Amino acid sequence: MNYITLPSSLEDFHNYKTEIVTTASNRELYLLHGQLKGNEKDSLCPNCGRKMHIHDRCEATLRHLCFGDKLSCLRFTKLRYYCPHCGHSHMQEVPFQAKGHRINCELLNYTRDLLAYGLTNKQVAYLTGLGRNTVKDIDLQRLKDKYTVDGERLIQPERQARYLGIDEFKLHDGHKYAVIIIDMVTGHILWLAHGKKKVSVYSFIEHVGEDWMDGVEAVACDMNSDFQEAFEDRCPHIQTVFDYFHIVKNFNDKVVGQIRKDEQRRLIAEGDEKAAKSLKGSRYILTSSKQTLARKDPEAEDGKILSKGSSLFSKEQVVRKDGHLARYEDLIRQNKLLFTLDLIKEKLCEAYKMTDEPSMADAITEIMDMCMATGNKHLLWFSRLLDNHFEGIIAHATYDISAGKIEGINHKIKTLRRQGYGYPDDDYFFLKLFDASRKGYVRNPVAEKIPQDL
Ligand SMILES: [Zn+2]
Repeated sequence: MNYITLPSSLEDFHNYKTEIVTTASNRELYLLHGQLKGNEKDSLCPNCGRKMHIHDRCEATLRHLCFGDKLSCLRFTKLRYYCPHCGHSHMQEVPFQAKGHRINCELLNYTRDLLAYGLTNKQVAYLTGLGRNTVKDIDLQRLKDKYTVDGERLIQPERQARYLGIDEFKLHDGHKYAVIIIDMVTGHILWLAHGKKKVSVYSFIEHVGEDWMDGVEAVACDMNSDFQEAFEDRCPHIQTVFDYFHIVKNFNDKVVGQIRKDEQRRLIAEGDEKAAKSLKGSRYILTSSKQTLARKDPEAEDGKILSKGSSLFSKEQVVRKDGHLARYEDLIRQNKLLFTLDLIKEKLCEAYKMTDEPSMADAITEIMDMCMATGNKHLLWFSRLLDNHFEGIIAHATYDISAGKIEGINHKIKTLRRQGYGYPDDDYFFLKLFDASRKGYVRNPVAEKIPQDL
């Protein structure tokens, strides 16, 4: 095919001839040599309204859509006008050029559509033949159009939220933090800001306004933060709730992890290398709940197939391995303290299922007593943590706040990082995250069929 038909949006580009050339990156390109239709207005001076002279001519090349795997470009001559009366000069306007890019509007819209569909920048760069930086610039603008007012401020929440979740996450350099505020029902991110201080909460309240905040009933957050104070400061009617996700995270990181390390040190000091070794790598078993492990073992007995075998590629079938529960019970037997951890975890899980505050208060008190009875410094710390945040913990029974949304956002942050959006442009990363929270998944099943490593 040596003849290309252009859409009507490109009617100002005419009388063109097609040449096929090969680019530096070894892709074939249809180079369309044509003319740009003139416009009466171009030659009138915007300052004094009089007729201008043609001062200069220059060649312009704009990228157009791909045809199959071939790229295409429009090449034409552009005029520079000069006004002899007032000295004004300007270039002839190209109606089909995308503002700020050396591509036409057709290609810009196509690129934006692919990005909105959920393809990664790398995939879009391949399909459009554009450079990665151009794709990123287009995507950034697309997200700003969608989620900001004039590119300066985030849009207002789409709906009134009843429950908010607030959290912080480390940025790429590992020292700086960002604050994230989400609608706990929809999972939509409503606010993202640098810094981990109360200031972020204040600017959020300023952003959505006091009336909107009046509709919020509860906010879920971590216990080790000053977010609670910030909300109590400005919106005393909002109940702070310490959610299950953060409680378990604190327990796993600061109690289970620490005790396991202590125990390992103790066993090594006592010369029991074998027992110390069996503790190593047991974190998964210790931190996943007993029910999950118990469920996996019958599956193993039934020979649950995790991965199908194939005779074509001589691949062996992978079935679920037996003995999770046995190893777990072995670990528990070896160590009384680990047994207590296990019990506490089960009690926490039960307590967070309760829907009336008195029962939950009893359950949490029981957990605190169990912690204190051990005399272990990490468990004593945990007991104090529960004690100091008691009201916000048992409030969970009243407010139906699930841990899933906060976990979901944490997962999305990781996924976007892996796809390479995390560095170095924070604005872009934040908007990508904002966008991802409004989609069911970051990953798009159709887009995934296009190879990542093109
Ligand atoms: Zn003039």
